[in-house]
Amino acid sequence: MRARPVLWIVIPCYNEEQVLPLTAPLFIRKLRQLEEDGRISRRSRILFVNDGSTDKTWEIIRKTAEEHEECIGICQSRNRGHQNAVLAGLMEAKDRCDITISIDCDGQDDLNAMDEMVDKYLAGAEVVYGVRSQRKTDTWFKRTTAQMFYRLMNMMGAEVVYNHADYRLISAKVLQHFADFEEVNIFLRGMVPLVGFPSDTVYYERNVRLAGESHYPLRKMLALAFNGITSLSVKPITLITTFGIGFSILGVILMIWAIVQACLGNTVAGWTSTVCIICLLGGIQLISLGVLGQYIGKTYLETKRRPRYIISARTWEPETRHWIEENDTGNESTEKEQIGNI
Ligand code: UDP
Ligand code: MG
Repeated sequence: MRARPVLWIVIPCYNEEQVLPLTAPLFIRKLRQLEEDGRISRRSRILFVNDGSTDKTWEIIRKTAEEHEECIGICQSRNRGHQNAVLAGLMEAKDRCDITISIDCDGQDDLNAMDEMVDKYLAGAEVVYGVRSQRKTDTWFKRTTAQMFYRLMNMMGAEVVYNHADYRLISAKVLQHFADFEEVNIFLRGMVPLVGFPSDTVYYERNVRLAGESHYPLRKMLALAFNGITSLSVKPITLITTFGIGFSILGVILMIWAIVQACLGNTVAGWTSTVCIICLLGGIQLISLGVLGQYIGKTYLETKRRPRYIISARTWEPETRHWIEENDTGNESTEKEQIGNI
């Protein structure tokens, strides 16, 4: 059995002024309970990542950090998307804790699953995936499109854990290696399994959002699936090649048929069929070029080596206030004030 770990709960927040005041106390209560149960160290923290919100989210995070010692916040310089926000939080946490749990801030994921996640870590797992046992509370449309998302991902060669979103425990050990994955197009669900190490699964029920609205409409979900597929797999290119071979064979058969017809002296059929074939092939070629373009575009972006996240403000100072010193409470509020005002 492992020693009591220092846990950092990483919570991405984007325009969540409605839900954050409701869920922040729940996260704090959960952390205290985990500490009291003796599962985690009392030096554990909750890290809110403000993903460039345009509403009062950052103010709420700063206020929460001032009022509660166990809460801290970082702010991205602009909205970079959910995946980058989680990554920013995980990278901030990796050298300061033993384990991290990433969770959405809207209260949809059952906090009680954390107990089991930590237990599984204590029993030896380095990654514990939170998997939704059912989606009764989602609308039929959301449920169906989400299921199609996972099927499509797996069909296209991006292996993801079915019904697992971004609620998971990752140990600092895994994160150290994860930091070596330097790609810019991030799809955490598909990347974490690539790091390896022993993993386990915890099942939980997904609730409805406590307040506010989803930031993942169908359009964004499709974009995420497309990003995941093209970031993790080259299967679409293989599919295009297969299509290409199929159509070439068909073309040869048609050619032979046309020659035979010409030899027999039959008039060649009207132009409609020709036009249809041209259109069909033209369409397929365009799609193929589009997909190839996606890969080239990604290569282009990767070669730029842009930073994957930029933290513009913190509610704490990593250098002067070292976590691991438990009794170092210092002149905390003034310190936070100063940092907040930068
Ligand atoms: N989120 C984020 N940046 C974004 C969009 C969303 O940090 O650009 C956060 C959001 O605040 C929430 C989580 O990602 O904590 C999941 O978003 P949401 O609940 O809207 O998605 P859904 O659960 O409906 O798929
Ligand atoms: Mg949600």
